[in-house]
Amino acid sequence: MTHLRGSVDAGSANFASSCCCTYGYSGYSASRRAFLKSVVVLGGGAVLSASGTAAAAFAQATSSAPTSKGNRIDVHGHFSPPNLFKAMLAQGRQNFADWTPQRALEAMDESGVATAMTSVPPHFDLETVDEDARPANEFAARFLADHRGRFGVFAFLPMPHVDTTLREIEYAFDTLKLDGVGMFTNYADKWLGDAMFNPVFEELNRRNAIVFVHPISLGPSQFAQLLPSDGAIQEQTDTTRALANMIFGGAASRYPNVRMIFAHGGGTMPYLIERFTSMAKGQRYAQLLPQGFSGAASRFYYDTAWTSNPVAMGALTKVVPLSQIMFGTDYPARTIADHVKGLKECGVFTDRQLEQIERENALALFPRFKT
Ligand SMILES: [Zn+2]
Repeated sequence: MTHLRGSVDAGSANFASSCCCTYGYSGYSASRRAFLKSVVVLGGGAVLSASGTAAAAFAQATSSAPTSKGNRIDVHGHFSPPNLFKAMLAQGRQNFADWTPQRALEAMDESGVATAMTSVPPHFDLETVDEDARPANEFAARFLADHRGRFGVFAFLPMPHVDTTLREIEYAFDTLKLDGVGMFTNYADKWLGDAMFNPVFEELNRRNAIVFVHPISLGPSQFAQLLPSDGAIQEQTDTTRALANMIFGGAASRYPNVRMIFAHGGGTMPYLIERFTSMAKGQRYAQLLPQGFSGAASRFYYDTAWTSNPVAMGALTKVVPLSQIMFGTDYPARTIADHVKGLKECGVFTDRQLEQIERENALALFPRFKT
């Protein structure tokens, strides 16, 4: 079965340089497979070539104390597993391919970030995702252990393949001890909240898991880049699609133990609040959503990447409580400093509220970073 998203590579690369990271298409299967068969080289120079070595590496790694003087927690950073370098370069994302733990730590220290929660940049290839996930997660376990306390990791899942995803969830949590899982807003024409993902959410619900949701481009069957700005529009819009589908499709109610963080301030959701509120009151959804749309949306979390401005933060804070908003930067797609400055100067938050957004709200989800 081939549903490669390579057909939109060119368009994706065109707008990638001017917007965040709406991409995810791979046209490199054959060469990538050859690459995978070679070796996975880790950031510290170590090499992992078999699943079992990751656990050993995790257990034996020496910890390095945080050196940052700041205490911010960035819940939206990315890491680059070597097995996906070629895909990132094919998408024109040199900044992601250049990522190393050391460069990330320097940027974090410059902007007072103690800990960065990281996930694989938006990418999946239906033909190879089953074999992409494991080395990516093992790479993550290594840099997590090498820099204890400085990073957290959302596991890369081989979605939309449910069976392999369930196996990877077990490995990521039970063996690698990762902090949560990452998901993209859509997979091969299915958005989060689709019934095909119910077994995955059942397992995540059982584990009280944290899910970081990141936008990705549409597949070739839906995608048409009508305007140069479609990258930015798609990214925010697809986040809204996934969020709304989780709520109106019932999955958010069915799996209440799953704690979901939506990137980029929830996309366009706050601006569409009047529409969603009206829908929730209608006969079709009133029983499903007794607290209304805002009640359901207020159970999700939202990061501040690309939305650290008066318009976006002003709107988001009118829909969800402050406790649901967490500092996010999209590093290395954007600078951390941009977001520190944007939040401070947006005029929406007091200094006390910034302390909550930039650290305390995230600590409630990730208590292991308490110092
Ligand atoms: Zn991102």
